[in-house]
This record gives sequence, C-alpha cells and structure tokens, in this order.
Amino acid sequence: MGVRVNAVVYASDERNARESVAAAFAEISRLDQLLSDYRPDSQLSIVNGRAGRGVGLGTTEIDPAFAEVLRDSLVIAERTGGAFDPSVGPVVQLWRTARKEHRLPDPATLAAAVACVGWRDIDLAGSPDHPTLLLRRPGMKLDPGAFVKGFGAQRAVNVLSARGIDRAMIAIAGDISCSRPPPGERGWRVAVSHGGDSPDRITTLSLRHQSVSTAGDTEQFVEIDGVRYSHIVDPRTGLGLTNHASATVVSVNATLADSLDTGLCVAGIERFEEIMSRSPGCDARMETISADGTRLVKETPGFRRLISPDP
Ligand code: ADP
Ligand code: MG
Repeated sequence: MGVRVNAVVYASDERNARESVAAAFAEISRLDQLLSDYRPDSQLSIVNGRAGRGVGLGTTEIDPAFAEVLRDSLVIAERTGGAFDPSVGPVVQLWRTARKEHRLPDPATLAAAVACVGWRDIDLAGSPDHPTLLLRRPGMKLDPGAFVKGFGAQRAVNVLSARGIDRAMIAIAGDISCSRPPPGERGWRVAVSHGGDSPDRITTLSLRHQSVSTAGDTEQFVEIDGVRYSHIVDPRTGLGLTNHASATVVSVNATLADSLDTGLCVAGIERFEEIMSRSPGCDARMETISADGTRLVKETPGFRRLISPDP
C-alpha cells in the first residue's frame, strides 16, 4: 500500500498487545499481497492479466476477502453512477506516468484507456467460500487504490477483536478504523483535514466501532501548465480532478467509507444530497473550492453529531 500504518491498542498485558498487533499487521500484509497492483503476482494482477479471455480461461478463483472488498466497492460504483469505479486501472496507470513525467497523457491513449473502464463488466460469481472473478473486456484493470486501505484497517481491527483486544484503532494513512474507545473515553478522537492543517480546516470526530476515510487532492496531485490534477480521476473523461474537492465519510463498513469519499469527489458537491440519501449507514462532509475561491461545504446531519465536543 506504500503508506505508514499506525496501531493504538489497549490490552491487559504488553505481550498480548505486541503479538496481536503483529497479527493485525500480518493481515494487512496478506491483503497487500492479494490486492496490490504493483505486485505482478498478486491475485488482483492475475485477474487483470486475464481480462477479456472469457469464461473459463479468464476466470480466477479469488480469496474470499478479495470478493468481500470488491462486492462492497461495487455497491458504491452503482450508487455513484460509476463516479467511483474499481476498474479505473487503465486510466490511473496513465496518470502515474503523467505525474512522473509532468506531462498530460496523450489524448488518444487516454481515450483508449477510458474505453476499457466499466464496473458493469466485472463478473463476481461463485460461492462465498470459493468466489470467482472475471473481467469481461480485454484491457480492463482493477485498481485497488481507492478501497484497499479502508478494508485493510477494518480487517486489522477485526483481527485484534478476535484476539480479545477490543479497544483499538488502526490507521492506514488517512483510512482509520476503530473498535471500543479507550478506557474512560466516549470515542476515539480523530482529526480529519479538509485540506491543509490550519485549525479551521480540521474537524475532530469522536468515533467508536466505525471507520473514517478522507479523499482529496491535497497530498497527491500533479501540476501541469498551472493546473492541479488530483490522483483521483473522472472515469468518464479520464482526467484528474481539478475541482479541489475533499470528502470525509464515516461508516461501520470501511470499504463503503473509503470508496464513497472518492466517489463523492468525482460526482461533485451538487450530487452530495442525492448520493448520501441513498447511503444509509454512511455520514459525510464534503467541500470544494471553486476557481474564484468560493468555498462550499456540505455535510449530513449525522456527521455533525460525530464532531467531538473536545477537539
Ligand atoms: P487516498 O489514496 O489519498 O487515500 P482515495 O481513497 O481517494 O485517496 O484513493 C485514490 C486512488 O484511487 C488513486 O490513487 C487511484 O488509484 C484510485 N482512483 C482514482 N480515481 C478513482 C475513481 N474514480 N474510482 C475508483 N478509484 C479511483
Ligand atoms: Mg477512498
């Protein structure tokens, strides 16, 4: 995943704490090995390599965890009308090169990549114990970037709970999952940034048994000819976002939170109410800064209630 992971746990003894955190980290490593698009031998890369070969040759039996995270992410693809699309890989790969070379992708190459994107051609089948995955069209590629960190954080918290450590918080970069709060506290206090680190850009939430995810263009972007392109791309145009959007989503399901923040940034603030009204169990805050500097903020009523009285 290429990012730092932090764990905070409360346990009755240090040995149990250390061993349990090691087990939680091992689960994160396992997911990284399954789902990384940088590793040619990951299940995700194998599935990508078989895209378009049709039922049989193109079908791969996948780990149940892979199926679970993909199934949840497809819920968000549907709900955002494809603004979030886990098959955006061909486009993201062109932007990785663009960021390295400080040059926009070639329009014809980009159009060809856009034509390969389409979550409806992801065929997840099989049984819960033996799920299978097939990408129907040649050139399709799954990109785990927008959902793997949330899922990893949640799975790590689950590993800790199974070992009796039920007061824990795991942060994989900006994707944070927690179980019961620290002793004597009402929640885990989590500060989320809406871009920058000045106090008026930060909201402190109080969370328990929840996950929070934030997406935006403040950390990863490329500037070309004075325009800032986010590492989040619009699957319809293939272009990096330039709308200076940032979104934070809280949910009991980390994959939904991680996918939805990305989807909200792409869908745009005009669609915030519509998408959130169809997202029970998710609360969110979103803001954009328009070209003339106007700042627009929207949040769900439930999000307000998560704000800590004690920043
Ligand atoms: P971060 O990586 O900063 O936590 P996100 O969760 O939004 O932020 O993930 C961004 C990553 O998701 C990108 O680096 C890319 O791999 C992938 N991605 C970019 N655009 C989309 C999109 N429209 N739908 C799904 N995944 C995307
Ligand atoms: Mg995300």
